[in-house]
Amino acid sequence: MIKGHIHSIETMGLFDGPGIRTVFFMQGCPLKCSYCHNPDSQSFEGGTTYTVDELVRFAKRYKPYYKDNGGVTFSGGEALMQGEFVYEAMKALKAEDIHTVLDTSGIGQTFYYKKILEYTDILILDVKHFNKTDYRDITGVSMKWLSSFLDEVSSFQGKLWIRHVMVPGITDDKNSMDYLYDYVSNWSEKIEKIEILPYHKLGVDKYYQLEIPYQLENTDEMNKEDALAHQNYLMSKLEKEQIDKLIAV
Ligand code: SF4
Repeated sequence: MIKGHIHSIETMGLFDGPGIRTVFFMQGCPLKCSYCHNPDSQSFEGGTTYTVDELVRFAKRYKPYYKDNGGVTFSGGEALMQGEFVYEAMKALKAEDIHTVLDTSGIGQTFYYKKILEYTDILILDVKHFNKTDYRDITGVSMKWLSSFLDEVSSFQGKLWIRHVMVPGITDDKNSMDYLYDYVSNWSEKIEKIEILPYHKLGVDKYYQLEIPYQLENTDEMNKEDALAHQNYLMSKLEKEQIDKLIAV
């Protein structure tokens, strides 16, 4: 029987998808983002094991809170690295009429991409960067591993949220926002939200505890108001494009 390895669970999550959600943070991630605030979720060792039935039973306890728009989110670590488990769990949750969100950076077990997305209501795609060099600098892996997931995003039938962590000195300027927009604009019809998350240092202590060097030691936190202004800029671009497309029909 397939078992999932779960780093942690948030039972009243308000951040990773709409409404009130149970968020399962899966253990293990192939990336090493310089700003990752959960470096302890990167290892493929450890985590608490759950069967699909145990996970569904856990999620159902909170069903009264989900109401019209809440539900369950799979995040990480990287949920796509436990493809079979996440697929089976998503399918079982949908059978219970529970809304599902997948929060992913788009690198994992390719065989399960399509299967998982069939049972995903909202896909949150974390865009680390839009060019190869900066992508590798930030994540430590090649951007080429993303391409098969991006192909699946194009045929995905649900809603898409785009997320990007804004780090001072890397993408905190209008040009970068325009490039980011171009990178995702093929999917503009299904994008519901673009979120610019300001880089923060809340996870730094974990690096010291794990004795891992922290690459952004000398980088300031991102100003929240500035990040919000960039987000508003992108959302108004998106709305304009969506309206133009509607008018053109
Ligand atoms: S993808 Fe997420 S969990 Fe993985 S290293 Fe990056 S920030 Fe951390």
